[in-house]
Amino acid sequence: EKFREGLTKTRDSFAGKVNDLVSRYRKVDEEFFEELEEILIGADVGVTTVMNLIDELKMEVKRRNIQDTEEVRSVISEKLVEIYQGDQEESNTALNIQTERLNVVLFVGVNGVGKTTTIGKLAHKLKGEGKSVLLAAGDTFRAGAIEQLEVWGERVGVDVIKQSEGSDPAAVMYDAVQAAKARKVDVLLCDTAGRLQNKVNLMKELEKVKRVIEKEIPGAPHEVLLVLDATTGQNAMTQAKQFSQTTDVSGIVLTKLDGTAKGGIVLAIRNELSIPVKLVGLGEKMDDLQQFDAEQYVYGLFY
Ligand code: GDP
Repeated sequence: EKFREGLTKTRDSFAGKVNDLVSRYRKVDEEFFEELEEILIGADVGVTTVMNLIDELKMEVKRRNIQDTEEVRSVISEKLVEIYQGDQEESNTALNIQTERLNVVLFVGVNGVGKTTTIGKLAHKLKGEGKSVLLAAGDTFRAGAIEQLEVWGERVGVDVIKQSEGSDPAAVMYDAVQAAKARKVDVLLCDTAGRLQNKVNLMKELEKVKRVIEKEIPGAPHEVLLVLDATTGQNAMTQAKQFSQTTDVSGIVLTKLDGTAKGGIVLAIRNELSIPVKLVGLGEKMDDLQQFDAEQYVYGLFY
């Protein structure tokens, strides 16, 4: 239900256009596929992915000897689900959070994508599952970032480990890990800086933060989640490529899906980057964060 609500814009635009196409064409011909291609590209599915999808659709239509456009619609959703699910590893969208250990989740991504909000929402979700959570204010660079995380901490009812603005993020992380160990919390969620002005410095900073965590807790961080803003389309793809080149990103959080008609970006990311989309943001409220599920997503779009 949450998926359906959050995807209203994409559904109205993308699925609406597909439905319109299906009703206008009786027969499945080359022109039909050309129009379908345009609709998919318009939904930010990504050119490479669209080409593959159209090829597969054509083969399937031939194989099953499908003539009727209505029937093609269900093949489209089947194929979309297949692509979304990817291989075994990618289809596992559950966070690597286990009992009986301190789990560390590191959040990376550029300013404004919804990192802080996602940390707040995830803290709320985990608390709801009975887990104890601590937040680390690792963005010591952006003015107001620490306060913003504290606001979420209060809202959700979890503590924030912080230092003053401008302090060394690696030192904040060290403190946070010690506090998490001493308090025996289940999950430590770590914010990081997202300034884009100096990418090399930012990447170095993230590496240092990661090293501190690794040194204090063998096997950690257990997740490195890259947060991307779905409304920025191909920009999000570029960011994903940049971050994944320098950091071992274990999963993607795609935010603001509710604010875009171009929800096809999920498909492009999955298909072109081989990094699973693990969580999606479907609104600004505490409850508007969902574990990604390919079938729910595709069927939420079409039905
Ligand atoms: P940060 O700079 O990456 O920490 O980004 P913030 O967490 O401050 O988020 C930037 C803005 O995006 C805020 O106004 C959030 O309320 C908004 N936002 C974050 N996630 C979502 C989402 O899933 N949907 C919508 N509609 N807005 C979101």
